[in-house]
Amino acid sequence: MLFVISGPSGCGKSTLIRKVRRSLGDLEFSVSHTTRPPRPSERVGVDYHFVPAKTFERMVREKRFVEWARVHGHLYGTSRAEVERKGRRRDVVLDIDVQGARQVRTRIPGAVHIFIMPPVAGELRRRLARRHEDSPEAVERRLRNARAEIRAYDEFDYVVVNDDLVKAAADLKSVIVASRHKAGVMAERLKPVLRSFQKGRP
Ligand code: ADP
Ligand code: 5GP
Repeated sequence: MLFVISGPSGCGKSTLIRKVRRSLGDLEFSVSHTTRPPRPSERVGVDYHFVPAKTFERMVREKRFVEWARVHGHLYGTSRAEVERKGRRRDVVLDIDVQGARQVRTRIPGAVHIFIMPPVAGELRRRLARRHEDSPEAVERRLRNARAEIRAYDEFDYVVVNDDLVKAAADLKSVIVASRHKAGVMAERLKPVLRSFQKGRP
């Protein structure tokens, strides 16, 4: 299964994904490509594949992205190779913006789309400021863009409000677990069970 997580910058997507992956233990994270410079705390190939614009544009021409978009002045994209490789063994989580989520919606039916909402505008500003990883201009740009991004919440299958972190992580985990138990999703796993009932000797 593919889980698409979106929400304004600073709402807590990375933090929540990290917590839920640690708790579930069987979710892969799709590492995106970006032309944005790395933040001090970020690790190459773990948080992002940091690439020059020329490399990114070549990948676009070669149709190597499932989706890509310009966000807050930089290019970001999900490579097909990344999703295919990680998706072979496990469910995959994408942390992408609302434009990217729209592309995934039309290209990959069955993906589960989850929107992370900040509790209130002022708290988003405080979180972006407290993170100390973006310039004041970058923070302002992210806050301006948040206004349009949050209006897209009703395009998503589920919404999690990230007020209290422990509760939000539990909510996100519940959404993922419930999605995995939909009858259509369970069909493959249930085949041997159903077969065992066909043999006439339950
Ligand atoms: P995003 O990935 O959506 O840009 P982050 O996960 O980097 O956001 O979170 C932004 C900042 O807010 C980080 O410093 C993080 O520790 C903090 N944060 C995340 N969730 C909460 C929360 N529920 N309460 C308080 N601070 C939070
Ligand atoms: P940040 O620079 O804060 O890591 O990310 C900025 C925004 O870009 C966030 O909304 C994040 O979800 C989004 N983003 C990260 N990777 C991708 C991607 O591969 N594709 C798209 N469309 N957006 C992405």
